This record gives sequence, C-alpha cells and structure tokens, in this order.
Amino acid sequence: MVDHARERPAAVPRRHCRVYVGLGSNLGDRAAALRSALRALDATPTTRVAACSTFHETEPVGGPPNQPAYLNAVARLETDLSPQALLARMQVIERAHGRVRTVRHGPRTLDLDLLLFDDLVIDEPGLIVPHARMWGREFVLAPLAELCEIDALRARFAGETHVR
Ligand code: ADP
Ligand code: MG
Repeated sequence: MVDHARERPAAVPRRHCRVYVGLGSNLGDRAAALRSALRALDATPTTRVAACSTFHETEPVGGPPNQPAYLNAVARLETDLSPQALLARMQVIERAHGRVRTVRHGPRTLDLDLLLFDDLVIDEPGLIVPHARMWGREFVLAPLAELCEIDALRARFAGETHVR
C-alpha cells in the first residue's frame, strides 16, 4: 500500500476540497460558453473538474423582461484553493468570456456561482457560501441533484460494480 501522507512535506497539506459550481449562460453560443468555462476551471491550478451535470435549458428568473432562455449546469470540482481564491479565478473566467456587469440578473454570456465548498459556511463581503439564493432556484437544484444522486450511487457501489 502506498503511504500518500509521506509523499508531501507536512507543511503543505493537500486538502482536495469538494466544491460545487453553478454555470449559466443566456447569450451567444451558450453550450460553447459552458464547455469553455469547464475547460478553464479544469486548467485552474490545483483544481480539476471531477463531474458535470447535463446542460438544462431554463427560463430566466428575475432581471429585465424578455431575456433569452438560459443553459445551466452544475460541476463538481476538487481543489486545493481557498474559497476566496477560487471565486477570484471564477470571476476572471467570467470576464474572459465577455461578461460585463450591468443590470442585476441581466443577460450574461457566463455566470459562475460558488454553490458549496465542502461543508464550509462563509458570510463575508463578496462571498456567501452556501450560495445565498441556491435553495430556491430550480435551475441550480435540478442539475445539482443529478450530481449528488450519481455521487451517492457511486459511493454506495464503490469497488463493487463490474465494468463490461
Ligand atoms: P447572481 O449569480 O445571483 O445572478 P451575480 O453573479 O451578478 O448574481 O452576483 C455576483 C456577486 O455576488 C459578486 O459580487 C460576488 O462577490 C457575489 N457573491 C457572493 N457570494 C457568491 C458566491 N457564493 N458565488 C458567486 N458570487 C458570489
Ligand atoms: Mg453569479
């Protein structure tokens, strides 16, 4: 058996936090924006995209009238970054996809929300985790449920399933 604890200096513990990120787009090529955001998240230092839900087409909630429909997804990440560092990186990715903050809940090429970060509860200026509005948003909960269901099944059958 490999003793992983011996492979790294004790001063740099690897935390591999389990994080859920919400993705949304309702302008331009929405699926391309979500795929590109997933690649950018995966390219983030010490971070990998471990799983992603299917893409859900949803009606806009709030914001100006007559917005185009959204494409939403939720991804599960593993990261050694802090929540603040990860959010900062997510905002860089949003900007790289042409997001300009104008109207609240207005149309956007890419919206990235930090939904859950392990079991941390954070309430500071600019960062609330669990995401303050996630519990009432079907466009977050439906893709999240897909992942949680799959994660729970995978844990239940870990090491027992036969791949043919
Ligand atoms: P929404 O995603 O609810 O439509 P915005 O994306 O416009 O709203 O809001 C982004 C703002 O919310 C940023 O200023 C960011 O600092 C703040 N914020 C607070 N908590 C979070 C979080 N968990 N994930 C993403 N942004 C957050
Ligand atoms: Mg957001």
